[in-house]
Amino acid sequence: MDYQRVIENIHKDFQSKKGCGKVADYIPALAETDPMQYGISVATLEGGQYEVGDACKKFSIQSISKVFTFAMVMGHIGDEIWESVGREPSGNPFNSLVQLEYEHGIPRNPFINAGALVVTDRLMSLYDRPKEALLDFIRSLCGNADIYIDQRVAKSEREHADRNMALAYFMKSFGNIKNDVDTLIDVYCSQCAISMNCNDLSKSFLFLANHGVNPLNGERLLTISQAKRLGAVMLTCGFYDESGDFAFRAGLPGKSGVGGGIVAYIPGNLSIAVWSPGLNPHGNSLLGVETLERFTTDISNSIF
Ligand code: GLN
Repeated sequence: MDYQRVIENIHKDFQSKKGCGKVADYIPALAETDPMQYGISVATLEGGQYEVGDACKKFSIQSISKVFTFAMVMGHIGDEIWESVGREPSGNPFNSLVQLEYEHGIPRNPFINAGALVVTDRLMSLYDRPKEALLDFIRSLCGNADIYIDQRVAKSEREHADRNMALAYFMKSFGNIKNDVDTLIDVYCSQCAISMNCNDLSKSFLFLANHGVNPLNGERLLTISQAKRLGAVMLTCGFYDESGDFAFRAGLPGKSGVGGGIVAYIPGNLSIAVWSPGLNPHGNSLLGVETLERFTTDISNSIF
């Protein structure tokens, strides 16, 4: 398959859609992002890397970071994590509070904000320096040492974290957050503020396409069963209240972030990262979703 030609064609055909959607502005530092940027990168398990457009420009990975933290925690504590977080789609926006009260402080899944806060809380219990451990994990996945936290974005997000603070305190009242909430919010905002480009991101998801083994060094990070479960949760919950529609359109497990990035993968084959900062009303990259739908259609391959 000529992936280079496929993504170049999509990029060309979608030029007129660049800038569609609305750049996230509830985190002021993100509001300054140029909406016209558009990059695609494909990485294959055979070692190929294909890119087009703004695939080398770094952006804020935001909720894509939830996949990395979850993989680290799942790799360490295994099934124990399911005592604190569920694995059902929420059908609600990513930062919703409504289900938490009648579900006794147990978030629906690890990819809505409440669930990701629980996962980051567990990461803090596992590591003395959780931010550094997370950065090292991502660097080893993409083979790039130049992965860092954009401190300006992290600060901006901390200053506007009232809703995430509310989620964390509420869950703490049920005993589902173990660490200090201010420190938790700092770690969470920092993980969301990690800067990566599409090439870094496509490479860093190859361990999922490779059923839990980092293809760069052969290290097994997740069991085959854990990798299957993580993929299943990405397919059913990776796009908040648009998860069903994304599965319907793209047919891939994936994860989005409000920075406009989406990463998805085909088990045993490849991973693909797209970046276009304009979001649809569900908080997912508008052009990113369209690009992934077109990609699986053009290559006649998905998980189905
Ligand atoms: N940092 C963002 C938040 O907590 C992440 C949300 C997202 O990317 N969907 O609101």
